[in-house]
Amino acid sequence: MKRLARFAGPVLVLVLAVGGSSPRAEVTKPPPPPKISALRCGRLLDVRSGSLKEGALVIVRDDRIDKVLDAGSKPPDGATLYDLTAYTVLPGLIDAHTHTFLQPGDYDVQLLKQSLARRTLQAANSARTFLLAGFTTIRDLETEGALYGDAELRDAIVDGIVPGPRMQVATRAISTTGNYALLGYAPEVTVPKGVQIADGPWEMRKAVREQIEHGADWIKFYGDYRKFAPTGEIIDLRVTMTQEEMDALVDEAARRHRPVAAHCYGDDAARAATKAGVRSIEHGLFLDDATLKMMLDKGVYYCPTLTAYQVSAEETPTPAWKKVVDGHRDTFQRALRMRLKIASGSDAGDFPPANAARELELMVEAGMPALKAIQAATLVDAELLGWQDRVGAVEPGKLADLIAVEGNPLADIAALRRIRFVMKGGQVFGER
Ligand SMILES: [Zn+2]
Repeated sequence: MKRLARFAGPVLVLVLAVGGSSPRAEVTKPPPPPKISALRCGRLLDVRSGSLKEGALVIVRDDRIDKVLDAGSKPPDGATLYDLTAYTVLPGLIDAHTHTFLQPGDYDVQLLKQSLARRTLQAANSARTFLLAGFTTIRDLETEGALYGDAELRDAIVDGIVPGPRMQVATRAISTTGNYALLGYAPEVTVPKGVQIADGPWEMRKAVREQIEHGADWIKFYGDYRKFAPTGEIIDLRVTMTQEEMDALVDEAARRHRPVAAHCYGDDAARAATKAGVRSIEHGLFLDDATLKMMLDKGVYYCPTLTAYQVSAEETPTPAWKKVVDGHRDTFQRALRMRLKIASGSDAGDFPPANAARELELMVEAGMPALKAIQAATLVDAELLGWQDRVGAVEPGKLADLIAVEGNPLADIAALRRIRFVMKGGQVFGER
């Protein structure tokens, strides 16, 4: 029987191919009818203008936004209706700096004792958490020793194997010898590194090529590397690369049309990275006006990740951490006044992604208007990712990535913590 069953397929194909005048007509199925959804909003936030459209009706056709209709409009026949009249609807948020492969807990243990399989499962769980927290797109900036797992996770989400946001990924990130964890082990013991180590311009180029070969959308490098004392004092903040190395890295990425994100705490690294032609400066704790001006002139995005240092300062409330947070806020406020392109990214990973909406709260606390903060996590981040044609706004033709929140985030930014509905690409996630 087994043998017969195995041959049933090819025999059938043969019969179809030779029998009848047009066998194809019998086997071709008509395409499925479009899936239409209609979202009745309490109010719809136009993130470009800040206007709230009461009672708007958003029509979604398959994975795209089809129309945005006025209050009182009738949903099309056969549409699945979602009653969001108690909520404010806005585009799905973007977190432009995440680490799905990094979890709370001991960093060395994650790299030394946890298998890649375990770390990947945890990352999949983080991706789901981001999505349910209203983040329908993330830029995941390095796996911290988990190699190319982020590229696999990105693709598994696209293939519908696990739920999660749309992802752009940086894979391993790059630093130089002596300038990234794990450090401090006996020299005769080989331990994994949280990044790919490269020295000299040609090794930079090779590392970039390898990472792109294995799926990197972005190249990330460490412009400087720091050590924190347990009290929060930054000790030994040093630029990791020569200008020649940074230039080679960015040039190689550009040849393959990959943007570059540079981790820079200090001014020296940020200045060199900006000169080299990076697309974004990450963190930027202590930047001078002259460097901010150079970033502005070159259109470099500033992704401050305020949350990361706030979380550390709360966990370790010392004068040293307060100094870090205060200095960072000062840089942020000057960047805001100088009208830099400020992106929203939380650095969530070693603290839970559920806190991610906090980045917007911290921006608002530091003086950014609520609308501008929401724009950072929608329009600006979409542009940073080069996806402004598909995400970041509720507009016909864009992907149907929408969230509904309880309250008005323009009046109370913390409303973004009260996510009551998440749609990504026309599909609803969560159990609400
Ligand atoms: Zn980070």
